Amino acid sequence: MDFQFTSEQELFRQEVRDFLEEEIRNGTFQPMCDGWIQGYSPEFTKKVAEKGWIGLSWPKEYGGQGRSHIDRLVLTEEMLRYGAPAACHWFADRQIGNAIMAYGTEELQQEFLPKILKGEAYVGLGMSEPEAGSDLASLQTRAVEDGDDYVITGQKMWTSCARFMTHVYLVARTDHDAPKHRGISEFVVDATLPGITIQPTIDITGSEAWGEVFYDNVRVPKKYLIGEKNRGFYQILNQLDYERAGLERLMGNYPLFDALIQFSKETERNGVPLCKDQSIRQKLAQLQVEFEAGRLLTYRVVLVIEEGRAPNVEAAMAKAYCTTFEQRLASVATEILGLYGQLLAESKWTPILGMAPHSYLGSKGYSLQAGTTEVLRNIVATRGLGLPAE
Ligand SMILES: Cc1cc2nc3c(=O)[nH]c(=O)nc-3n(C[C@H](O)[C@H](O)[C@H](O)COP(=O)(O)OP(=O)(O)OC[C@H]3O[C@@H](n4cnc5c(N)ncnc54)[C@H](O)[C@@H]3O)c2cc1C
Repeated sequence: MDFQFTSEQELFRQEVRDFLEEEIRNGTFQPMCDGWIQGYSPEFTKKVAEKGWIGLSWPKEYGGQGRSHIDRLVLTEEMLRYGAPAACHWFADRQIGNAIMAYGTEELQQEFLPKILKGEAYVGLGMSEPEAGSDLASLQTRAVEDGDDYVITGQKMWTSCARFMTHVYLVARTDHDAPKHRGISEFVVDATLPGITIQPTIDITGSEAWGEVFYDNVRVPKKYLIGEKNRGFYQILNQLDYERAGLERLMGNYPLFDALIQFSKETERNGVPLCKDQSIRQKLAQLQVEFEAGRLLTYRVVLVIEEGRAPNVEAAMAKAYCTTFEQRLASVATEILGLYGQLLAESKWTPILGMAPHSYLGSKGYSLQAGTTEVLRNIVATRGLGLPAE
């Protein structure tokens, strides 16, 4: 088996690196942890769109570049390595565009896909509710048909990018009498419609990347339904595989990993560089081994997608493993950096830009978002290993 990338893929990797390094030199961004989900930069997204790197692997008939999923893997790996601020386009590129291509009407595709490709549609994910998280099928937000519209009422929690989204991907109940999995539909909704109120959720890191979104009799034209009415839950399950599948679950904090290695080389304790200390070398080597294992699990997911299969068990396995790697990385970073390492970015005494406490706190949520580790392990056990559900 050949584990190498092709020379074309390596050239593409270099092209992406050159672009990102140039953007850093130009001051468009500074590498950050969680840039894929918290890094707001319309300017950067526009430049990525101009390169044709949004929708890279979408089929050409939908305006994409028709490139392989491995090319997209190379692209995202480099975006994450450099901590690029990609939140404006990440979700639409990763999953909502795909959902619209797979299930949307031609009218919806023609209206929406070009906006995503041009980097003009910033889509947040509106699924979870106060009483519907792991058991998403319990959701209560309702969409009731009225003439040419659906009228939407309810409350969502943890909607990603709520602060700046132009559109929200929304799941709502369209049949209250049907069994709970069979009465749900998917929509893509203009986030500026009357009746929508967005309230930021300030998380443990102080970030406002997510929000609570309230829908009070919001009139959404019927053409914004994605796919078949009441069949939304089955479409969501497919989409969640893609949401869990990416390298962002492994490399969201790569700038911290990189900076930690650099810090260990440059910092002396008792006259000796940290990187010569046996226990620190051991910790860093262990992290590198775990990182490589996570990378292979994620590559496997991409190969499954490339074969045209949905990466269900593979994505569950990769996300469960990779997010716990990110939590260990943050823990080891705070150990190596010592007490100063716990200072936040605002402090002039904090090493490596305060990335360690940000990751330490932020990574706690990684094993909850997009499916908790317990739920993912259940998927591996039942669907992967064939163990009984009860
Ligand atoms: C940082 C962050 C970002 C998020 N981003 C988004 C977003 O963009 N869009 C969105 O819609 N939602 C988002 N969420 C919400 C996320 O999807 C939910 O938090 C998650 O699904 C868990 O739901 P819950 O919090 O209601 O916990 P619950 O579902 O109530 O679970 C509580 C505990 O019970 C366990 N549990 C539940 N069911 C089972 C089971 N069947 N077997 C074993 N254990 C089980 C869980 O693992 C967990 O430990 C985000 C959450 C966080 C923390």
